[in-house]
Amino acid sequence: TYDAVAIGEFLIDFTPGGISPAGNPLFERNAGGAPVNVLAALARLSKRTAFIGKVGNDPFGHFLQDTLRKEGIDDKGLVFTDRAHTTMAFVHLGEGGERSFHFCRQPGADEALAFEEIDSSLLGSAKVFHFGSVSMTSEPSRSATLGAVREAKERGAWITFDPNWRPALWQDNLHAKLTMEEGLKEADVVKVSEEELFFLTGKSELEAGAEELLERFPVKLLLVTLGAEGSYYRTRKTGGRAASYPVVAVDTTAAGDGFMGAFIGTMLENGLPAWEWSDGELRKALAYANAGGALATTRLGAIASLASHEEIEELVKGAPVTE
Ligand code: ATP
Repeated sequence: TYDAVAIGEFLIDFTPGGISPAGNPLFERNAGGAPVNVLAALARLSKRTAFIGKVGNDPFGHFLQDTLRKEGIDDKGLVFTDRAHTTMAFVHLGEGGERSFHFCRQPGADEALAFEEIDSSLLGSAKVFHFGSVSMTSEPSRSATLGAVREAKERGAWITFDPNWRPALWQDNLHAKLTMEEGLKEADVVKVSEEELFFLTGKSELEAGAEELLERFPVKLLLVTLGAEGSYYRTRKTGGRAASYPVVAVDTTAAGDGFMGAFIGTMLENGLPAWEWSDGELRKALAYANAGGALATTRLGAIASLASHEEIEELVKGAPVTE
């Protein structure tokens, strides 16, 4: 069995990498994709993980497979194709460090995953099954993702979902919203940013948005990340906040994934589903997750920036959790 299995996009992120001797901007090859970042965060917490996704049978796809192996994530669910290239995204940094993504997907291998290609043993052996919405932007990966989630749920997994809204990947906002709603119908635990909560509910106020989301969907626990402000949680019974930790942020890539990985890690440690926990337990788990997110901002890169259990514990010890 696996502690956590995730499905979704796995691609090359080309991130700004300085200037060449000829004076041209350089781009650095990095493994990208939120579901794998979450698994890598969990692997760093000594959890058993496996990934389901598709890459091209090309040097980039092989590099991504090596990345999984290096991180200790089982790659038996990684499918290779000769019919599409490994998906690529170029990350541009605007003024003030704001990131924008330009995807080269025409279509990319990640979107070509079909439900029939999924190793079904992975759907029956996960305690937690995690997914996002990037793999639901087009077919056949949309049906593969939802099919896998439904089967894993039926076979006993807790379902965690991070919509991870990337506007450029959708036909339009309505398409994005309706598809994310399909995910919300299946998920037990959902993690969103404030911007995503507003997008999904139309409510700009945090409490009102959370209430609306829990009313319309069978979600049992909603987590909202608030950047340097920490995070917020809401179940059907209770809600609250946990402050983050003061860190010097240099790159926020994968902060949300570091947060989610750390949260899932505490859920696996506890054994009971998080929506049944007391406020005290939830706040403690959020504090741990906040520290996982905060540490990911202190180092460059995505996977490379994710923290170990010892580092997270150390940071949590340092600052009290506020009410
Ligand atoms: P993404 O990585 O896709 O931007 P996100 O919007 O969910 O995801 P953030 O809210 O930026 O991610 O960060 C996730 C968590 O990491 C926050 O809830 C917080 O706990 C922690 N965090 C992020 N930025 C900071 C910061 N500057 N200082 C302290 N903690 C931070």
